[in-house]
Amino acid sequence: MNVTVKEQMYEGKAKQVFATSDPEIVMVHYKDDATAGDGEKKGTIRDKGIVNNKLSNALMQKLEKEGIPTHYVEELNDRDTLVKKVSIVPLEVIIRNVAAGHFSLRMGVAEGTTFKTPILEFSYKDDSLHDPFINHYYALALELATQEEIDTITAYSFKINEILKKIMLDANIKLVDFKLEFGRLSDGTIILADEISPDTCRFWDATTGAHLDKDLFRRNMGGEADAYQEVMKRLLG
Ligand code: UDP
Repeated sequence: MNVTVKEQMYEGKAKQVFATSDPEIVMVHYKDDATAGDGEKKGTIRDKGIVNNKLSNALMQKLEKEGIPTHYVEELNDRDTLVKKVSIVPLEVIIRNVAAGHFSLRMGVAEGTTFKTPILEFSYKDDSLHDPFINHYYALALELATQEEIDTITAYSFKINEILKKIMLDANIKLVDFKLEFGRLSDGTIILADEISPDTCRFWDATTGAHLDKDLFRRNMGGEADAYQEVMKRLLG
């Protein structure tokens, strides 16, 4: 796609977003910066930006083929990708197949317990409030999304889970849980945005149970850079 990259619009914890000459397209730049514990722990994970860029793009292309609309347009290089410009729906959608992290703490269910059916959770995307846990009535009452949008987001999220679970298992990885963000195009169409990566998913080796995701960094276990490379190697060769 022939566009010129223009000024930076936004800088987040792990990515920068730049305007382009096309008002409907932005460029995402993936950094190696990592934060955890609500921003308390800061660091870098070597070449994380490359892994997350390539992996997220590959997974979004697979999802598109299965009928999920995504923001992916074109990978420009190791760290930069053109995506459709959206306004982000201020909901973080979390899908859980296996108990871990905050779920285990809140519910007193041991990490590693597999659920009979997948769980969908919403959080209100607001750093100053620490992304509080909400249900869909909060989203409707506060006009974060319409009922129709929530229905679309819910259906897409469960379908994404089924597709991703299979892709990951083929790489001998268990998809424990993950976070999704959706956006609205200028005409209101809901599409998958943000990223799908070891930053936003819990991946466990299906044989050994070893963590292959950001929990290695969050929990100071070490080996996170190698684990990100391992996930990329298993999925992209
Ligand atoms: N997650 C995320 N961003 C967040 C919170 C959670 O990407 O701000 C992902 C996290 O990587 C995990 C899943 O969502 O795969 C569920 O996370 P949980 O609610 O257990 O919170 P955590 O224990 O990761 O803080």
